[in-house]
Amino acid sequence: MAKYGLIFDSTKCNGCYNCFLACRDEYCGNDYPPYSAAQPMSGHFWMRIIEKERGKFPKVKVAYTAIPCMHCENPTCTQISPNDAVYKRPDGIVIIDPEKAVGQKEILSYCPYRVIYWNEEKNLPQKCTLCAHLIDQGWKEPRCVEACPTGALIFGDMADPNSEISKVLASQNTEVLHPEYDLKPSVYYIGLPKRFIAGAVVLEDKQDECPENVTVTLSGKDGKKTVKTDNYGDFEFEGLEADAEYTVKIEQDGYTPQELNVKTNIDIYLGDIVVSRK
Ligand code: SF4
Ligand code: SF4
Repeated sequence: MAKYGLIFDSTKCNGCYNCFLACRDEYCGNDYPPYSAAQPMSGHFWMRIIEKERGKFPKVKVAYTAIPCMHCENPTCTQISPNDAVYKRPDGIVIIDPEKAVGQKEILSYCPYRVIYWNEEKNLPQKCTLCAHLIDQGWKEPRCVEACPTGALIFGDMADPNSEISKVLASQNTEVLHPEYDLKPSVYYIGLPKRFIAGAVVLEDKQDECPENVTVTLSGKDGKKTVKTDNYGDFEFEGLEADAEYTVKIEQDGYTPQELNVKTNIDIYLGDIVVSRK
């Protein structure tokens, strides 16, 4: 039996919102019994995109996180639902029955991920169905995945070791949102925004040049990482722990090594770091 899941790769998402729009296009005004009733024209975000601005001028980044229903292996929504209005299919897709769930606004509170929306007109709780009506017709991907131009979304059968999703799960670092909920989501994430430390190296006696290939080492409780400055003299360490203490060491032949202590309570841009001749 298939076991469907999704991967969202934040490093590939450019915030085009095509996934969100494809979902709206599929569901607004369209009923798909017994999977779902039509989504209203506004107020629902079955594929919600969170935009997070990181860093400060001149080092600013924007990171996106897509949040549909997690189609949890151990979902609270199905466990609390009194009349099987929310149920889990053998393939892992969690469905809110558009007939049985009528009038049950309390279903919104059954999900700690807050991905269930209230349809005022239909008196109905609704959410992402993982496009079950299309998958059951033989579609290979849901609409949002098909619409993504950068390959940031991957859908597939996690029970098939040869599927793309299984290969990515086996070969890359993935994580889930809020593992502390212990609901075992079927939506996995790559490159979720954490903290960065960045800066630019300037050689005191060559200030009009950009020093490439200067060695910069980051040390912290998770070990050491070394990078070289690029052709602008810039360096960056990504994916760091929040609120952790690090030491940044800059080394270049003929120059006095320089160390800086940094705490990642926010993303850190160290600016120009001037190193002097020995
Ligand atoms: S994310 Fe929420 S609505 Fe979706 S399966 Fe998990 S508990 Fe249920
Ligand atoms: S899987 Fe389908 S229902 Fe879920 S967010 Fe994507 S397009 Fe919408």
